[in-house]
Amino acid sequence: MAPAVTILDRDTIAAIATPVGRGGIGVVRISGARAMEIANRVCSTVPEPRRVGISDFRDHRGQVVDQGVVLRFVGPASFTGEDVVELQGHGGPVVMDLLLESALAAGARLANPGEFTQRAYLNGKIDLAQAEAVADLIDAASRSAVVGASRSLRGEFSDRIGRLAAQLRELRAFVEAAIDFPEEEVDFLADGQVSARLEDVVGAVQAVADTARQGVLLNDGMRVVLAGKPNVGKSSLLNKLTGDERAIVTPQAGTTRDLVHADIVIDGLPLTVTDTAGLRTSGDLVEREGVRRAHGAIEDADLVLLVVEAGEVAQGLVGRVQALEADVLGTTKTNDRLARLTIVINKIDLTEDEPGLTVLEGWQAVRLSALTGAGVSSLREHLKALAGYRAEEGVFLARRRHLDALQRCLEALALGERALVEQGAGELLAEDLRLAHDALGEIVGRVSSDELLGDIFGSFCIGK
Ligand code: GDP
Repeated sequence: MAPAVTILDRDTIAAIATPVGRGGIGVVRISGARAMEIANRVCSTVPEPRRVGISDFRDHRGQVVDQGVVLRFVGPASFTGEDVVELQGHGGPVVMDLLLESALAAGARLANPGEFTQRAYLNGKIDLAQAEAVADLIDAASRSAVVGASRSLRGEFSDRIGRLAAQLRELRAFVEAAIDFPEEEVDFLADGQVSARLEDVVGAVQAVADTARQGVLLNDGMRVVLAGKPNVGKSSLLNKLTGDERAIVTPQAGTTRDLVHADIVIDGLPLTVTDTAGLRTSGDLVEREGVRRAHGAIEDADLVLLVVEAGEVAQGLVGRVQALEADVLGTTKTNDRLARLTIVINKIDLTEDEPGLTVLEGWQAVRLSALTGAGVSSLREHLKALAGYRAEEGVFLARRRHLDALQRCLEALALGERALVEQGAGELLAEDLRLAHDALGEIVGRVSSDELLGDIFGSFCIGK
C-alpha cells in the first residue's frame, strides 16, 4: 500500500538501539544505502547478508576498541526496507558512543526519534498501526498489553481494518454504479439491498470498535473518576487501592486546580484515578452543581466509580444515580451504561454486608470497606475485567486515535443511512461512504498528514 507521505531522505542513519547505561550487550543500528560501506569502515569483517559475523570494531581514529557480532540485511528484506547493519558490542556507554561516533565519521547521520520505524512505514514494510504497535509493545505495562501489541504488530488489527475497508469499497462501488445508471435507481433504493449491506458494515465496524476500546484501555490505562458525596470514603478508597504493595502511586499535579489525580498500576494495568473530592464546595456532588463542576473529568472518564455508604443504599439512591447518568453519562459518546458506571458500596464493616461484586437496580456494584480492605480485591478484579485484562482472546492493542477514527466512520455511516432512508439520496450516501472509508484509511496510514506522522514518530526514542 502506498504511504501517504513519500518524502524519504536518502541519508544513511545510525543510532544506539539499546538503552543508555551498562549492559552485557549494546547495539548500534545503521540503515540506508551506505550501510555496508560504513560497516566496512567500522568493522574488520562484515558477514554475508543474513549471516552472523564476529568482528573487531574500530573507533573513528582507526583504533580497535571492541569486538562483537555483526548482522547484515540487504534491503528490501530488512526491518526498514533498506540495507541494515547491526553492530552488537559490549554495552558500556563509552564503548557505544565510540562505535556510534565511528559510524557517524564514516558518513552516517544520527537517526531522529523513531526514524528506523518511520522508514519501515515509508518503505511500505509496515503500516501506521503496526508502526504504533512497535512503540506500544516496548511501552507495554502488562502481559496482556504485550500480547495485544504483538498481535497489532503482526498485523491482526490492520487486517481487520483492511477487511472493513474492503467491505466498504464494495458497497461504494455498488452505490456509485447505481448512481451512474439512474434508470436503475428505483430498484436500487427500493430493493433493500443497500440498506442491508450498510447494516452489515455498521455491525462489523461496531464490533472492531468494541475490541479496539478494550485495546485502548490496556494500552493507555483506564481513566477512572471517583465521585460521591463528601465523607463517603473516596480518599480512603484511593489510598486503599494505591497502598497495596502491588500498586504504585505517582502523585501528579492536577491539571485542574480542584482535581486530584493519581497514576496507579494494578498488577500491570495502568489506571489514572481522579478524585473529585476537591470539588466539594457545599452539598452533594451528585447534585447538579457538583456534577457540573466534575463534568469534564467525568465526561473524559472510561469509568465512573460512584461511591456511596452501605447505610444509604436504600435511601433514594436510584434516583440520584439516574440523575447522574442523565446529566453526564448520557451526553458522552460511549453511553454504554454498564461499562461506564460502577457503584461502590463502601463502609460495609458498619452494616455487615458481604463483600464482593453485585448488581444494584441494573448497575454493577461492588460492596467493600475502604477501612478494613474487605472487597477491595473484588474492585480490582472488576477494573481489570473492564479493561480486558487477561481476556487475551482476540484483544489487540489500540490507540485513542484509532478509536476516534472508528467512531467517525460509524458517524458517517449513520448519516449515510439517514440520507438513504429519509431522502432516498444516493449521492449523499455515496459521499458519506467515502468519508467512512477515509476514516478507516487514517488508521493504517492510507490517509494521513505530516503532522500526524510527526506526532507518532516524534514520541519514539532514538534507535527505534
Ligand atoms: P471522602 O470525603 O469521600 O474522601 O471520604 P474520606 O475517605 O475522607 O472518609 C471519610 C470518613 O469515613 C473518614 O473518617 C474515614 O475514616 C471513614 N471511612 C472511610 N471508609 C470507611 C469504611 O469503609 N468504614 C468505616 N467505618 N469508615 C470509613
